[in-house]
Amino acid sequence: MAPKIGEMLHLRGNTLNKGEPVALPLTQSSMFHLPGAPDGHATYGRVDNPTWVQLEHVLSHLEDAPCLIFPSGMAAISAALFATLKAGSRVLIPSDGYYVTRLLADRFLSHLGVVVEERPTTAFTKGGFDGFDVVLVESPSNPGLDMIDLGAVAEQVRAADGITIADNTTMTPLGQRPLDLGIDVVVSSDTKAMGGHSDVLMGHVASRSTQIMERVEEWRRVSGTIPGPHEAWLLHRGLETLDVRFDRMCNSAQVLAERLVVHPAVNKVRYPGLPDDPSHALAQAQTARFGFLLSLTLDSEDQAEAFINTCPLLRPATSFGGVHSSAERRARWGDNVDPAFIRLSVGCEPVEELWQAIENSLNAL
Ligand code: PLP
Repeated sequence: MAPKIGEMLHLRGNTLNKGEPVALPLTQSSMFHLPGAPDGHATYGRVDNPTWVQLEHVLSHLEDAPCLIFPSGMAAISAALFATLKAGSRVLIPSDGYYVTRLLADRFLSHLGVVVEERPTTAFTKGGFDGFDVVLVESPSNPGLDMIDLGAVAEQVRAADGITIADNTTMTPLGQRPLDLGIDVVVSSDTKAMGGHSDVLMGHVASRSTQIMERVEEWRRVSGTIPGPHEAWLLHRGLETLDVRFDRMCNSAQVLAERLVVHPAVNKVRYPGLPDDPSHALAQAQTARFGFLLSLTLDSEDQAEAFINTCPLLRPATSFGGVHSSAERRARWGDNVDPAFIRLSVGCEPVEELWQAIENSLNAL
């Protein structure tokens, strides 16, 4: 069910006593006054923090599930994998998802005796899921924007006694609700649209399984993979405008995608909101919005670089989901895409102003 945003905005307010600040106080402390038995109070900064608790409360409201925060999306993904895998486990990951997840599996998990296999998102169910302990999916995949039927994967993996993890970074809980579709664990890079201002790295893990969340919490406490209170505070503030930002960004992405498709300088556009996009049917069935990411492919690497670097309303930057529209050639990081493939993250600029800047830069190529 879609989260109630009004209720989310007043979650803390409705618990306040007279004279307490409406804005979330930042608790920047490693120690807590703790005479005698801890009795459930904050103990030590690696274990808990009141600013974290408030942020996790808001995230839990968005996910409709218990949440734990981490200092980056990769820290959240690592936590979910280290909490569910052991030596001898088999894990399946997408070959076309965020490349650092593959690096983590390849460079670290496999060295600890975990057997790692990869499949492309569009052929993910081929071969079934027998013998996999953990299956990690990313839908839509970054950067290709291919999608997979999350409900079907969840059902098949559960039938084979495995655990499913979905990276929901590109959609946010407002765009897609993997837990409602039967997925066991959601991981997210909140560095992107959740924070939304390109000023903080954060991530979270959400799951309705108490057993899994206990392991994830233990991982965070024991490994020390903890966010700073100020970062938690920044993400909390960002989440207060997520709904309006996400709405604007998705609406604008649809407008831009429809115009880019017919622009003569553009060879190919991928956006799940386009009726003939390969992801359209799945997106209609399982997402609430079509998202704020799109891709366009130009004629050459040089043209792509010229477009990205000269358009005054596009930041030539890696990462996505911020209020400032941004773009980059993903081939520069080794993603298996055309050298002229550009991932474009649509921000919060007024759409006509943004289109004018994009159109002018494309016309000038
Ligand atoms: N998952 C996806 C889909 C991403 O795009 C990214 C970062 O780009 C991450 C995870 C990692 O997030 P972070 O950079 O916050 O560690």
